[in-house]
Amino acid sequence: MPRFGMVIDTKKCVGCMDCVVACQTENDVPQGFAKDWLVTEVTGTFPDLSMEIRSERCHQCDNPPCVYVCPTGASHIEDWGKTVQITEDKCIGCKACLAACPYGARFTHPDGYADKCTFCIHRVKEDLDPACVSVCPTHCMHFGDLDDAESPVNKLLNSRESHVVLPEAGTKPRVHYLK
Ligand code: SF4
Ligand code: SF4
Repeated sequence: MPRFGMVIDTKKCVGCMDCVVACQTENDVPQGFAKDWLVTEVTGTFPDLSMEIRSERCHQCDNPPCVYVCPTGASHIEDWGKTVQITEDKCIGCKACLAACPYGARFTHPDGYADKCTFCIHRVKEDLDPACVSVCPTHCMHFGDLDDAESPVNKLLNSRESHVVLPEAGTKPRVHYLK
């Protein structure tokens, strides 16, 4: 059984926003909301500064607080792929998951249920990459099975230094950023 994750090469990201537009189109994201977004982080001390542009989304945590706090089971981990998903008609809109997610990855859809990136699981089930991955003009995003030692995502992870966002939160994110 796969355990899906993403590996994103921050050295190749040019901040073009194509991933954000592709997600909004593919997933019919309501106006004013986003399921993925860009973060620009500058680190170091002048003149030794470096900048990282990150395409972020739900980090599909292995230890997801959003699932643990959900009172109805609407937020759950799917068996196949181990992705965190939301069953819309089980959601009562209590926003507990929005408060529990340390990444601000969730929002309340105008129809009243919690919403977020699904890793485009509907596409993945058709053997396609998530929309963001498929449109990236620099091919900086890679999607695949983190439990398969021979998968391209694992080979990339093993070939370069990488990090995850907010490791101190203990959520064990599955979106990895190559430095
Ligand atoms: S990033 Fe937030 S919404 Fe996504 S699995 Fe982790 S805690 Fe849940
Ligand atoms: S808003 Fe919906 S998915 Fe989130 S915790 Fe409440 S019932 Fe569960």
